Amino acid sequence: MRIDILTLFPEMFEGPLHTSILERAQKKGLVEIVLHQLRAYSLEKHHQVDEYPFGGGVGMLMRPEPVFAAWQSLCAALTQPPYLIYLSPSGKQLQQTDLQRLAQKPQIALLCGHYEGIDQRIIDQLADEELSIGDYVLTGGELPAMVLTDGLVRLLPGVLGHDESSDDESFRDGLLEYPQYTRPAVYEGAGVPAILLQGNHQKIAVWRRKQSLLKTWRVRPDLLAKARLDREDRILLAEILAESNLSYKTLSIAPLVNKDDL
Ligand code: SAM
Repeated sequence: MRIDILTLFPEMFEGPLHTSILERAQKKGLVEIVLHQLRAYSLEKHHQVDEYPFGGGVGMLMRPEPVFAAWQSLCAALTQPPYLIYLSPSGKQLQQTDLQRLAQKPQIALLCGHYEGIDQRIIDQLADEELSIGDYVLTGGELPAMVLTDGLVRLLPGVLGHDESSDDESFRDGLLEYPQYTRPAVYEGAGVPAILLQGNHQKIAVWRRKQSLLKTWRVRPDLLAKARLDREDRILLAEILAESNLSYKTLSIAPLVNKDDL
């Protein structure tokens, strides 16, 4: 896969792209990540790229010409235009399913905004989609582009070793991950759940699934309501309901439980 990143601050990517898994993936040739300095495409004196917005208002906007010029230069160097994503707080919120979808594409490009954003004509004419990393506003699109790149690259075949597999993680099946423990078995007086030390892998799998359901219910009931649950899951939820001291009717998971399982 090839990822082109259009930015006014390529130096911000130095650390994340040259550390750990992202660096290893590039060295192994599993992903090519190319940074493009948008300022280099400005024909203005001092390579200025920002301008006051028409209609007034606070702040500056990125002018369209340098972004168009950078895009044209990128497309001229490739056999086909990459799928362009504009990182923006007003885009659709990035989900794990978006990363899985984007990981299938051979080429994508990420456009990082700055100041108060980018002239809308760039977004309308060039961007295939607008993605936000959350309901908050950052200074620029660089950190969101790094978030997207990191989440995407670790899904590419061969990037994660067996020990780092992404198969059993939060969101993979719509639930949050169960709690995990490592050595020592007792730390500062706190032990680990006994079931994890007993070596019964079937029981461990059931315990983990139940913990996953419990954590998702407590922290992200919205995810639990949408998750695909089978009969075993509903039985585990019924156990959770029975173990909680709250009344059946007041619990948001009550509708997810088959009454026969109670
Ligand atoms: N005026 C814009 C607004 O109110 O939506 C905010 C602009 S923000 C200060 C500058 C740039 O940071 C944006 O163009 C975008 O590229 C990036 N950015 C900020 N927050 C983001 C988020 N939550 N997700 C993705 N990109 C973001």
